[in-house]
Amino acid sequence: MAIRHHCGSDQDLKSIACFLNLPLARVAQPLNIREESHMKIWLDGKLVDESEAKVSVFDHGLLYGDGVFEGIRFYNGRIFRLEEHIRRLFDSARAIILNLPWTQEEVCKFTCDTVAANGLTDGYIRLVITRGPGELGLNPYLCPVPTMFIIASTIQLYPAETYDKGLAIITCATRRPAPGALMPQVKSLNYLNNIMAKVEAIQANALEAVMLNEQGYVAECTGDNLFIIKNGTLLTPLICDGALDGITRSVIIEIAHKLGVPLKECSLTRYDIFIADECFLTGTAAEVIPVVALDRRIIGSGKPGPFTDRFLAEFKNLVMNTGTPFG
Ligand code: PMP
Repeated sequence: MAIRHHCGSDQDLKSIACFLNLPLARVAQPLNIREESHMKIWLDGKLVDESEAKVSVFDHGLLYGDGVFEGIRFYNGRIFRLEEHIRRLFDSARAIILNLPWTQEEVCKFTCDTVAANGLTDGYIRLVITRGPGELGLNPYLCPVPTMFIIASTIQLYPAETYDKGLAIITCATRRPAPGALMPQVKSLNYLNNIMAKVEAIQANALEAVMLNEQGYVAECTGDNLFIIKNGTLLTPLICDGALDGITRSVIIEIAHKLGVPLKECSLTRYDIFIADECFLTGTAAEVIPVVALDRRIIGSGKPGPFTDRFLAEFKNLVMNTGTPFG
């Protein structure tokens, strides 16, 4: 397993780290993907070696970010919430008029086959469907056949110790697009605004950033949903405020019902986070991670709180003991 960097040459990364006065490791977080291709990728109906997994330069996923995707985790030989992820994928595709020639059951099976072919028990799946190859113009109707590929690998979004200590995050200037511009429920390949937000976080020496919508309400973080606890109530932004309808978000809502913790989905501002007792983020890649400061202001006690610990324990129990077997 070799380490590759997210982007740029070593010299570029050194210059950026020097300019930002940050340690190189902060700018160039390692990405654990295999340099040598023993990985099997599912591509358009076949499991092929990584070196043979290629898509056309005329693919509209590449030319325009025209497509949808899912990030899915598997634990202990089982894929967590597979059907929910595939349902959301099909809903995203439908919302952008991307007609899929497969059934949801078939895509579940392709996903299981890919994980099984790679001999992993725990990891992360990236499933991408693009509009497919077409003409150079925008017209999606000239792309008759969508491209689908599935990668089974691993991912770590934040350093292990931040799960115990909690994250100190910032608010970034980059806003979530308005629902009228890009529907927040659609998990599309357009992540440029999230990437710009991530850049702001890195430049501010933070690992994550809160993104607001055009009205100034909290939408979510760059790749996670946000929750706070105030006086024993769990609060999270409305989807229509610009949040993705996260699968982990819905798992946390289920846990809240089970534990009898009152839940409010409502518009939140930075003020609500500043005065919260606890805060945590959720996402498939991020899992459940405590937040202990926003914009250098301490949240609650400055340590992960008892509600967060309880939600995290329930979440771990679910991921380790439920899911779709793929072996
Ligand atoms: N918001 C954004 C922008 C995301 O990309 C993600 C997924 N990484 C999430 C929230 C969390 O969603 P889920 O729990 O379904 O992974």
